[in-house]
Amino acid sequence: MSLEKELKKLNIGKIKEKQKLEDFTTYKLQGEIKLVAYPKSVDDLRKLLLFLRTNDIKHMVIGRGSNLIFVNDYYDGVLINLEEFNGIEIDEDTVVSGAGVNLIKLAYKVSRAGLVGLEFAAGIPGTVGGAIYMNAGAYGSDMGYVVDEIVVLDPNLEVKILKNRDLNFHYRTSFLQKNKEYICLEVKFKLVKGSVNILMDIIEDRKQRRLSSQPLEYPSAGSVFRNPENDYAGRLIEELGFKGKNIGDAFVSEKHANFIVNYGKATGKDVKMLIEEITNQVKEKYSVDLKIEQEYIE
Ligand SMILES: Cc1cc2nc3c(=O)[nH]c(=O)nc-3n(C[C@H](O)[C@H](O)[C@H](O)COP(=O)(O)OP(=O)(O)OC[C@H]3O[C@@H](n4cnc5c(N)ncnc54)[C@H](O)[C@@H]3O)c2cc1C
Repeated sequence: MSLEKELKKLNIGKIKEKQKLEDFTTYKLQGEIKLVAYPKSVDDLRKLLLFLRTNDIKHMVIGRGSNLIFVNDYYDGVLINLEEFNGIEIDEDTVVSGAGVNLIKLAYKVSRAGLVGLEFAAGIPGTVGGAIYMNAGAYGSDMGYVVDEIVVLDPNLEVKILKNRDLNFHYRTSFLQKNKEYICLEVKFKLVKGSVNILMDIIEDRKQRRLSSQPLEYPSAGSVFRNPENDYAGRLIEELGFKGKNIGDAFVSEKHANFIVNYGKATGKDVKMLIEEITNQVKEKYSVDLKIEQEYIE
């Protein structure tokens, strides 16, 4: 029986075969995914994971693919999409969100409800679960400042609560990044009451700044490199004349040198080779080891 049929028999939610990688990565990379599964509940997710583990089938949870580079043009496994984990509850200063919720949507919703704390996330195009994994952040804030606790499925497939202090949030990293078998299901935020008008002005102002400084008109996965201490990766890359350089359809953005953009049919390999070229030249010229902020998936 085909894998698709076997998974459908489990009756855990939508199963989609042969999906285009471009629909699952904000880079819009060329290639194909064997299968995408959309579990409807925690029990469905458990059943799915048990099956995948028992049968030794490669798998991973995917958010919006806004931080991922699939290096090969075929993902020979199952991507688990948590879009069905999409509830949002607001009660006074507490917000509970499903891991599959779109972070931008959540940031707008809580800001419009007059809650301060998530406005930094209004331009970060991931999911709430992906943002915990990455400790996504901007403008001097990040998830670590606003998360109270999260609900996870642990490696034994048990539901557990992890408090903020357990999550080891640091610059673009968290406990989840070091413990890949934990899956974030839900996040509880503690926020502070404030003025809707001020929050919406802040969001609008930052949106205009992003639009003028970042190449948002092309597919990308945001900043490629972490900023080295006391410097900017973009400055070093620009100084080396990389703006506009390309491998295939992967180009270093003319607008912001720390962005690689897809001008059409870029593959993960094109992006990776360009990243390696930049890393090598920056090391050679400045003796700086640039660290990538995005994640390679084999
Ligand atoms: C235009 C643009 C601007 C950006 N600006 C910013 C910015 O300002 N700040 C910033 O921090 N980032 C930024 N990013 C990067 C990206 O949006 C964030 O890193 C985001 O948090 C990734 O979320 P995702 O849901 O897309 O995760 P994905 O890219 O799909 O996955 C990333 C990792 O998280 C894991 N993961 C996803 N969901 C879960 C879950 N529920 N449980 C456990 N693990 C999970 C995946 O397995 C994977 O390893 C930007 C990206 C773009 C395209």
